[in-house]
Amino acid sequence: MCKHRTTSYYVTQILTGHGSFGSFTKRIHKTVDDTCASCGQRDDPAHVLYECVRWGEKRGRLKKLLGGDLPRATEIIGEMLKDRETWKAVTTFMTEVMTKKEKEHRITQG
Ligand SMILES: [Zn+2]
Repeated sequence: MCKHRTTSYYVTQILTGHGSFGSFTKRIHKTVDDTCASCGQRDDPAHVLYECVRWGEKRGRLKKLLGGDLPRATEIIGEMLKDRETWKAVTTFMTEVMTKKEKEHRITQG
């Protein structure tokens, strides 16, 4: 099996928005609202990548590694493909965040 399976799974969730985001779970009627469990704002991939205070520390570390702000969602793939370090930094952030979000969604849905 491809050892990157888990990483691609979470990266795909962020890039497509089909995953543990309120914006998606509400649409497929898994949750009644689309707000972020951590801060109450609308929960979607952009919220996770750029806004949510909960991931501020991880985001800060990622920004430092990238040497600036996070690229916009439409540019993030191009940025990730630049080199191995960037790829690793971005996918690690996405995987860590999505693993946590997914686990919580499972818990809150009981
Ligand atoms: Zn939030």
